[in-house]
Amino acid sequence: MITLPVLNADLHCHSVVSDGTLSPEALAERAHLNGVQLWSLTDHDELGGQVRAQAAAAILGIDYVAGVEISITWLDHTVHIVGLGIDPTHPGLIEGLRQTRDGRRNRAQAMAEQLSKAGITGSFEGAQLYAGNPELISRTHFARFLVEQGFCRDTETVFKNYLVAGKPGYVQHRWATLENAVQWIRSAGGVAVIAHPGRYHLTPLQMTELYARFKDLGGLGIEVVTGSHSPDQYQTFAKIAVDYGFMGSRGSDFHDPRESHTDLGLLPNLPSSLKPIWSVFH
Ligand code: AMP
Ligand code: MN
Ligand code: MN
Ligand code: MN
Repeated sequence: MITLPVLNADLHCHSVVSDGTLSPEALAERAHLNGVQLWSLTDHDELGGQVRAQAAAAILGIDYVAGVEISITWLDHTVHIVGLGIDPTHPGLIEGLRQTRDGRRNRAQAMAEQLSKAGITGSFEGAQLYAGNPELISRTHFARFLVEQGFCRDTETVFKNYLVAGKPGYVQHRWATLENAVQWIRSAGGVAVIAHPGRYHLTPLQMTELYARFKDLGGLGIEVVTGSHSPDQYQTFAKIAVDYGFMGSRGSDFHDPRESHTDLGLLPNLPSSLKPIWSVFH
């Protein structure tokens, strides 16, 4: 039997256009150094880095697909849906993402008010200094400010003690709907993928409902090998992919050289039992 060489695809990461710390060009460089052959920049709710990422990838000879990671609210929980192979100039997608970003500023102000009641002042301005894109102020930027101010050792610790449900700085937020997100992605010519399914605090029944509804809407894939999963979760979600007939995706979810455990392209291969999502466009 001939074994085909496995493609090094990394289809999930973030630049300064959302909550990463590197430019699209620096990410392309890093992906190239790490042997990535097919790459996608998937900033949160924002397409502003796509032209630069695509151009940088072309210069380095890396294949590129345009991407995005859309924040949605599913049964009162935040879930992320990745869109791959989208047309980043599609007006419906651009407008949907603009609406999704819209509430972030007010939410950040409410977060800062809560933090100031907990004795942490100046966090709105502090977080804003970390945000490369004024339209995309995220919890990650607050987390970096809290580390800078010495409240926590690292951002991982911040997300245990602050900014999450039941802790100071957490503000409930309503993002896009699953229906809208999948429809925006599909109408822009892309494929929809459930990001890091192992990260949600949904019950098994609620996860089942998510997969079923997502599939009904035309969702095609789930992330299996991601920097946001532990190795035992690769097996768990490989089985889910097979059971539901989803294609598998692979991506580091890289944000920053110091904060991220998994670097671009340096992940195990997708289990061979799965059809890779990139078979759609590669
Ligand atoms: P937001 O979209 O503003 O709610 O911010 C969500 C971002 O916070 C995610 O994309 C991650 O980058 C970061 N984040 C959330 N939870 C954690 C965690 N437990 N550890 C590290 N980063 C996290
Ligand atoms: Mn993020
Ligand atoms: Mn995510
Ligand atoms: Mn991500």
